[in-house]
Amino acid sequence: MNAPTNFDLDALKADLSAKSRELFIGGKYVPAASGETIDVVNPATGQSFATAAAGGEEDINRAVAAARKAFDGGWPQTSPAQRARLMLKLADLIEANADELAFTETLDNGMPLMMAKMGAVGAAAEQLRYNAGWATKITGETITPSFPGEWQCMTLRQPVGVVGAIVPWNFPFAMAVSKLAAALAAGCTIVLKPAEQTPLTAALLGRLIGEAGFPEGVVNIVTGYGHSAGAALAAHPDVNKVSFTGSTAIGKEIIRASTGNLKRVTLELGGKSPTVIFGDADLSKAIPSAAMGIFGNSGQVCAAGSRLFAHESVFEQVVEGISAMAQNLKVGSGLSPETQMGPLVSDKQQERVLSYIESGGSEGASVAVGGGTVTPEGCEGGYFVQPTVLTGTVSGMKVVEEEIFGPVLCAMRFGDDDIDMIAKSANASDYGLSSSIWTENITSALKLARRLEAGNVRINGVGGGVDPALPLGGFKQSGWGRECGRAGVEAYTELKTVSIGLG
Ligand code: ADP
Ligand code: MG
Repeated sequence: MNAPTNFDLDALKADLSAKSRELFIGGKYVPAASGETIDVVNPATGQSFATAAAGGEEDINRAVAAARKAFDGGWPQTSPAQRARLMLKLADLIEANADELAFTETLDNGMPLMMAKMGAVGAAAEQLRYNAGWATKITGETITPSFPGEWQCMTLRQPVGVVGAIVPWNFPFAMAVSKLAAALAAGCTIVLKPAEQTPLTAALLGRLIGEAGFPEGVVNIVTGYGHSAGAALAAHPDVNKVSFTGSTAIGKEIIRASTGNLKRVTLELGGKSPTVIFGDADLSKAIPSAAMGIFGNSGQVCAAGSRLFAHESVFEQVVEGISAMAQNLKVGSGLSPETQMGPLVSDKQQERVLSYIESGGSEGASVAVGGGTVTPEGCEGGYFVQPTVLTGTVSGMKVVEEEIFGPVLCAMRFGDDDIDMIAKSANASDYGLSSSIWTENITSALKLARRLEAGNVRINGVGGGVDPALPLGGFKQSGWGRECGRAGVEAYTELKTVSIGLG
């Protein structure tokens, strides 16, 4: 997949601009009931290059009805082995179409092409393969009851029903497919709502789902705006569960919308994740990892390490090292092979990130590197922000408290190796998604790992994104529930206790 490609980009662009991408409902591509469309913009240039259907409430109603029909029509009773085969077939089809999907993802989202190939297409295929394995391994338990009497008791895990999957724009394809994968393994049917900023790769997925041979209505894809299609899906009385990834503010909206039928909700929300570097850390690994932990995908990563805590003995060296990397980072269009950091997804996101940097300045932070926009060659009109490091940041500042979702690091120092004090600083956030620790002292690392209020802790680890086998999710306002791993599949099931009296 990483071999040099002779992919015909002009043909793809012509194809994307020729025809608005339609909704995929009940196994067929159809326009939105309103006939309205969304303009799709290339964030590296600011130019619109395609359109996608703007689905609304009526389309969501049709899609939910199709998903319900497929659920009642026998999808949950399909043998697990058959579900697994379809999922494996879809994974192969995704890889067979890797170039088309990756180039489309880069045009739509802006991410570097290599990231689109691995982080979008490769990751999606692996999510399907991993979860295909679970389809045949979802089990209940047999339990001996605690009260007297002769009983044979067991639990069954059954699919929760029709699932609404609402995904964001930062990893559009991987997020969409990872939700599908776990839901399909569990025997659910799905209505997927991609983000309005990045509808294209999900829209292309419908064709592959058809080719793989999934029954009509098992997967439905409704592109559209959050306030219309998204809100209609979250509130729909016949949707049994919503799995949402996005901002904490909208996550709270989803909870409110779910109350009508008390649908199940899992939320993967924002973060303000700490990177803690002790004085004894291997800086040759910690520095590049901390840099890519905030500049990767232009900082538009929910688990981005946006707050750095470095021991004062290494603080200057760490900030200089990260700043040097920031300065040397090749910022540009995701389509140029040498690009390491692409644009932000939209003009709105660019403005938002710049206004955070400005607010940091007015609250007393200093800019160690970056701090403004940049226009790489051939990218006039693109939404670029320089990789930025702020020092002199303290808790209470907006840049330290709030999720920026851009390439902006707040660097802070600690003077004392007291684990409780370090944990207190690292935990001083409404969020609790991820974290990383750098030290050669395994005792300090494990003590701190136990105290961090975060769903994920990475110790001395370079690279590595979302792994389909490892549970992912947040403490506090970073969310509800977990995705990936066994927990991720079980989140698409209901647990039923069956007791048989033998007396
Ligand atoms: P951001 O603010 O970074 O765009 P959002 O949380 O707004 O992140 O968006 C994540 C996803 O949620 C997108 O698919 C978006 O369309 C959708 N969304 C936005 N508002 C709502 C809403 N009120 N109800 C349901 N979905 C929504
Ligand atoms: Mg929004």
